Amino acid sequence: MKAIGLLGGTFDPIHFGHLRMAQELAGALKLHEIRFIPAAIPPHKANPSISAKNRAAMVNLAIANNPLFSLDERELNRRGPSYTIDTLQSLRDELDSETSLILLMGSDAFTKFNTWQRWHDIIELCHIALVQRPVNLASPKEILPKILETFLQDHYAEDSIDLLTTQAGFITMQKVTALDISATQIRTSLQQKQSVRYLMPDSVVDYIRVHRLYEA
Ligand code: ATP
Repeated sequence: MKAIGLLGGTFDPIHFGHLRMAQELAGALKLHEIRFIPAAIPPHKANPSISAKNRAAMVNLAIANNPLFSLDERELNRRGPSYTIDTLQSLRDELDSETSLILLMGSDAFTKFNTWQRWHDIIELCHIALVQRPVNLASPKEILPKILETFLQDHYAEDSIDLLTTQAGFITMQKVTALDISATQIRTSLQQKQSVRYLMPDSVVDYIRVHRLYEA
C-alpha cells in the first residue's frame, strides 16, 4: 500500500516546526510522500493575515529540494471554508483504494477536533498521526475533551504498521523533536522588527522581506 501524509494548516507563515515534524513523521511512519495543504479560509481560526497566494508561495519555497514533500493547492481552488472532510473526499476520488491517507496534526489542533465539520466521518477516510507540541506559558497545556479521549481510545493503533496496511480508521501518537516555534510568535517578531532567522528556511525569510509581509 502507498502511504501519503497530509499536513493541513494556515502556514501563516510556514516554519521549521511544520517542516521538521513532517520530516520525522515521514521517517517514523515510512510515508511515501507528504502533501502540504494550505487552507484558504481556515474554519477554526481567524482569517490569515496575508493572502493565500503568498502563504502557498512560501510553502513552495520551504519544501523545494525535498522529493518527499509537495504543495497541494486544492483548498485554495475551492470556495468557502476549507473543510478537511471535503479535501479528503476529493483526494479519495483521485486515488486508488490501495492508498493510506494519514492526517498529520499537532496536539493543539487535535484538542478542537470534535468541532471540525463531520469529524466522525474524517476517520473513515484517513488515519491520524498526532504529535505533541511543546507547552509554553503563551499557550498553556490544552485539555483533551472527554469525547476526544474516548475517540482516541476507540481508534488507537497498537502498532503504527496498522496505518500502513489499511486505508483509514487508526490514530497513532508519535514523538518528534519538540520545536517551540509558532507562526503567531513569528508574526509578532516581524511586527516588532525582530529577526526570524533560523525559525524557518532562509528562502522564506527572504520572501517575507522582499514582499514586506507582516509589517506593523
Ligand atoms: P498559528 O501560530 O498561526 O496558530 P501554527 O504555527 O500553529 O500557526 P498552523 O499552520 O496552524 O501553524 O499549523 C498546521 C499544523 O502544524 C497543525 O496541526 C499544528 O499543530 C502543527 N504545528 C505547527 N507548529 C508546530 C510545531 N512547532 N511542532 C509540531 N507541530 C506543529
